[in-house]
This record gives sequence, C-alpha cells and structure tokens, in this order.
Amino acid sequence: MIDEFSQIPIKMLHILSIDHVLYQDNYFQDRFFKHVTLKNRITQIKEEGILKVKQIGCSAQNREIYMLKAGRGSIKVLLWSQMHGDESTATLALFDLFKFFQSEDQYHALRKLILDHCSLYFVPMLNPDGAEVWQRRNAQGIDVNRDFLAQQSPEARALVKLQEEIQPDFGFNLHDQDSLWSVSGTKKPATISLLAPPADSTSTPTPSMLKAIQVICAMNRLLQQQIPGEVGRWRDEYEPRAVGESFQTKGIATILIESGGSASEKQKGRKLIFQALLYAFEKIASTAYRNENPIDYLQIPFNNKEIFHLLIKNCKIETVNGVIIGDIGLNYTEQFSTKEHLYTIADFGDLSTFSAYEIIEAESIVVLSPISIDSRPNLRIKHSDGTLTYLEDGVMIA
Ligand SMILES: [Zn+2]
Repeated sequence: MIDEFSQIPIKMLHILSIDHVLYQDNYFQDRFFKHVTLKNRITQIKEEGILKVKQIGCSAQNREIYMLKAGRGSIKVLLWSQMHGDESTATLALFDLFKFFQSEDQYHALRKLILDHCSLYFVPMLNPDGAEVWQRRNAQGIDVNRDFLAQQSPEARALVKLQEEIQPDFGFNLHDQDSLWSVSGTKKPATISLLAPPADSTSTPTPSMLKAIQVICAMNRLLQQQIPGEVGRWRDEYEPRAVGESFQTKGIATILIESGGSASEKQKGRKLIFQALLYAFEKIASTAYRNENPIDYLQIPFNNKEIFHLLIKNCKIETVNGVIIGDIGLNYTEQFSTKEHLYTIADFGDLSTFSAYEIIEAESIVVLSPISIDSRPNLRIKHSDGTLTYLEDGVMIA
C-alpha cells in the first residue's frame, strides 16, 4: 500500500516518531520562567550526573551563565539560546533535549550515534537579566546580538570565551521572532525561520556557510512534514556586529533558528526545535548533511509581513464619516503582567492581499470612535449569527 509516509526517508520517520511529550521538561510551568528556575533545574541535572555542567560567566547583574555538555565525539557543536531575554522557546527545547539525552529507551542507537560522534555544548539563557524582566536587551541596555565586535556585555564575552576554548565546528543561534512574520507566497505565519548568516558583506558562500546551508536543507525537509509552507528564510544581509556573522567569519558553520508563530503556539515551536535539532545532530554525526544539495536552500521562501493577528474581513463598516465596505487588520501586544492581549489597528481598507492568525467574517462593524492607524480600537462587531463582540480600548470582550 502506498501512503503519504512512503516518500519520507526512514531516518526522518525515526525522528518524527519520537513522542516529544515524553521528553518535555515539566519543571518549567510556562515560557516566562526566570533564572532561579533555570538554575534550580540545572542543579538537579548536574546531580543526575549524565550531562556535565560548567559555569562560563556571569551576567551584568551577576547571574550565572551555564554550559551543559553531552557527548564525547570529535565534532564539536555549540548551541546558545535566549541571548534576547524575552525569547525563551528554544531554551525550553534545549531542556527537552537534555531529558532525551538522559533517558534510556528505544532511541538508544540514535543517542549513541550522536553522542559518539559529537560533543554538544549547550548554553541555555545567555541573557538571564533580560529574562528576569522579560526584555530583549541585557541589564546594561545592550542588544547582546549587536555586541560581538565591541564585546561590552559580559554575556557576549562569556560566549566568545567559550567559543575560543572549544573551537566548535557548528554553531546554533537560537531565537524567537515577531509573530507577524509570514512566508512569502503562502500567507502562512513563519512558524520557524532559518538562515545561514553570511561571512562577509558579499554573502559569497564560504565552506562553513555551505555546511550550515546543507544542515538547514535537511532541517527544512523535516519541518515541511510538520508545518508545510510555514518555514521562512531570512535575507542574508551582513551584520558584522551579530554573533552569527561573527562566528561564520571565524569558519564555524553557524545556523540561525527563529521560532515564530503566535504566543499561544510557542509550545508548537518548542517541539519543532526539539525535532529539527535532533535531526540536525543525526545529520552532523553521520556526516549525511554532505549529501544535501545546497541549491535547495534557495527554495525556502523569504520572510515577509503579510499577516495580522486578527483580520475582520469585507464587512460594512460604519465610520463617523459614512459607511464603507472594507477590512480591518489588528495586531496585539501581549501584556507581560496580565498576559492580556491589547489590540491596535494595523491597517484599514482593502486588505484582500493579507491573511491572519484569526479571521472574522463579520456582518457589520460599528466604529465607536474614529479609526486611526496604531490606535486602540473601539468597535462593535456583529457576526453573521447575530452575536456581538466588542473591542473596548483595544481589549476584546466577547
Ligand atoms: Zn532574538
């Protein structure tokens, strides 16, 4: 019998068959955890004795930055997450990987392949001071990912010192991205975005960049099985102050992975990063990444911005200056203290070329205060079944 799985390589099927839930580290209650939680969990992992734990530095406010090591192989892989404090999805995925590598079960052969051939060095939460107050920058106000030339932040210095010590062959730079990025030509959210950062301003592929591209080609194929059309590629604009470019210039095959999607989908990103990294490790350990055609990288569409969080479509809109037929595109910001969504008007008029995470086909909208871009809307939305939803000063009341 031919089924849709018959086209999937057996090793990819093997990774896709891993039940992520079994390895999800439930020590973390949500994605807003702070350094103290991470530190307590790392203390437990250290006591369990399977992964090696080392402190590699301190943040500006004296919080410990840790490195965890798994494996004994000659191929050295360095991964770091949360250099931007409010980007914790990959940190959670790394703890799930720690649990996977600490387990003994039917995936023994996969674990052995990876750990015999690779030494994996993980730095979860490079910017603990940013995480403490849920902000991108560190406590000095520095964007750590623009500090790899100047090295004024202790966080950038700690990562560079570790890189110089271990001389990795591969680097994984793990971030979250704005949920409003979408994939060109698909109108789907860029749930995962990938990039092999350039080594210089010409973006000419260097040997390390080509290796990174080949690993990305493999990860993209796996991700397309899980999230068809939701993988985007960043444009390779050279940013010499960023860590990715800085490491690529040093000959480290460096890969940027950004987890997108809406706030409610961050658990999906956690699972996808767990799977994509395991597949990348398998390809690196077996050197099978060398069989990838780098041209496939160019088939991954670029990221663009063609989605809203909420799109109210094609309805009668009663404005203070008369009735029109049109669409309203709205985006929210997530309030850190209340976790409430606060909507603002992103665009208004004919938005037929856009999509959204949530689309409302309303019957009519009454605009209760004048509409302007970036303002908090006051709207009464009448749905086709007659029910009403209100947006009061940007807060949705159903
Ligand atoms: Zn980031």
